[in-house]
Amino acid sequence: MKISLSGSISKESRGGTAGKRSFTPDEVNELNRRFEGRGAEGMLEWAFDNLHPRVALASSFQAQGMVLIDMLMSISPDARIFTLDTGRLNQETYDVMDEVRKRYGTRIEVLFPEKAEVEEMVLERGVNLFYKGKENRILCCEIRKVRPLKRYLTDLDGWITSIRRDQLETRADARKFEIDYGNGGVLKINPLVDWTSRMVWDYIKERKVPYNKLHDMGYPSIGCAPCTRAVKPGEDERAGRWWWENDSDKECGLHFNHNGE
Ligand code: SF4
Repeated sequence: MKISLSGSISKESRGGTAGKRSFTPDEVNELNRRFEGRGAEGMLEWAFDNLHPRVALASSFQAQGMVLIDMLMSISPDARIFTLDTGRLNQETYDVMDEVRKRYGTRIEVLFPEKAEVEEMVLERGVNLFYKGKENRILCCEIRKVRPLKRYLTDLDGWITSIRRDQLETRADARKFEIDYGNGGVLKINPLVDWTSRMVWDYIKERKVPYNKLHDMGYPSIGCAPCTRAVKPGEDERAGRWWWENDSDKECGLHFNHNGE
């Protein structure tokens, strides 16, 4: 992968938009049939063999993401990993990001929001706008996460996520392969949909995979620093995300699939 003098990753290295491959619903159904009952590694191998370099793993370096990084790096250190840096992450998240670079000898594509959009948002609504109503919180997630992701995915044929069905009601119907209509119809690959939190932690402990130290401080789910708190024993895994929104669906918009399914 080439880095230009200005430090940005070239469009050619990302694969560009030419020859973009799309998948039909029938092809996706066939992939789901083929990988039914098969492990996450097999799905990652298929993704790398068939889509690299036009496929990348999205990671926010939470526990389940670390499992996929470990698996993917054992397939190839050339496999692509990207993350969304909202500008409001915890230092512990940057620390584990660096550990990943060191341990696997890989590079991480860090996506930032559009400077002008952030500047206008905080000028109009303040730096801590997310605490002042759900509309503001959704806007902040939209500008800092959803739009950078959408821009990035225009160059890809597929993206890999670490969502699990048992995390949220909105994820309960997630399939191993899906068409991501909310992001231009790109293939969405979810190798851990049928995993549980216990399986994730068993894998991490067995393989001594690095993980975000906030998990040891009562954070089962980790997002941006001002929007995540530790949970109390017995609380839901995502109770610490946007905790002031009691009626919230606890999503930031990255995993909404606007296809009506
Ligand atoms: Fe903004 Fe909070 Fe969403 Fe991060 S999680 S993008 S700080 S609203």
